[in-house]
Amino acid sequence: MQTIIGVDVGGTLLRAARYDLDLNVLERVEQPTRADLGGEAVLERLYQVIRQVLPESPDTSIGIGVALPGPVDMDKGILIAPPNLPLKDTLIAHLVEQTMGGPVFIGNDADLAALAEHQRGAGRGTRNMIYITVSTGVGGGIIADDRIYTGRGQGGEIGHMVVWPDGPMCGCGKQGHLEAVSSGTGIARAARERLSAGEQSAMSGMVKENLSQVTAKLVGQAAANGDALALEIVTRAGRYLGIGIASLMMLFNPDMFVIGGGVSKLDKLLFDPMHKAVEEYAMHPRYWKDVPIVHAQLGDDVVLTGSAALVKTMTGNNPKTL
Ligand SMILES: [Zn+2]
Repeated sequence: MQTIIGVDVGGTLLRAARYDLDLNVLERVEQPTRADLGGEAVLERLYQVIRQVLPESPDTSIGIGVALPGPVDMDKGILIAPPNLPLKDTLIAHLVEQTMGGPVFIGNDADLAALAEHQRGAGRGTRNMIYITVSTGVGGGIIADDRIYTGRGQGGEIGHMVVWPDGPMCGCGKQGHLEAVSSGTGIARAARERLSAGEQSAMSGMVKENLSQVTAKLVGQAAANGDALALEIVTRAGRYLGIGIASLMMLFNPDMFVIGGGVSKLDKLLFDPMHKAVEEYAMHPRYWKDVPIVHAQLGDDVVLTGSAALVKTMTGNNPKTL
């Protein structure tokens, strides 16, 4: 049987799995990344998890896909500048291919999550789809004509679209990006700032006045209980997400938007203001009227599945894409 090896190199966890060509998991392992041990050690641990899921006869594997948490050059196989890994400017594809055999393909984790949702999740059957993950940060991937679209290489950075030029500073060092307002980090920070300025809210009691304990999850709980300040902050996060989506609709006019990540579990608290902003800012109802904005369907292994989907796409084993 032909198989595919998928690997998800996360800031905290390394996951690897062997898949059949329909992307069903045959075997799966994980272990801590231990970025603190340095680049060489992380690579060694990466080879370890791959070895654990390799088929008994290695020649039945059609390729290895590696998902990486940072900007990548997919053509050259280089990981460019990962914020949470000691592997800057590393020729990952080449190194893995030398050690484990090939072919090896790499991709950005959010792009590959988009590919997974497109081939196996909520976006099945669409041709043009945009995936947005709202969690600690905001990431995303654009599927155009059934393929990942990255422009010259690092496009599709949805979290760093400018949605509010005078808004808060983003983790990337620039101002007014979607991630700065709508990510879990942005939501928690806004709550801490407003509370420390003395605003009244049930959140103060929930953390016993220790504002460092305020998380996006807690803001979401307070919002669900009707706390006015928490509701305002979550509503704003949803509204700016909608403003970003309205722009994406004007640019790409896709068949569907798929929203994943922990913050998307706020569901209506986030989605209602998001829909409202889409209708307020999109040029014409034709852009949103028949365009579903839905929850992602794949769970924690969405990126891992995407790394295997990438191999299918690149080796021509996906009749729909090649
Ligand atoms: Zn940014």
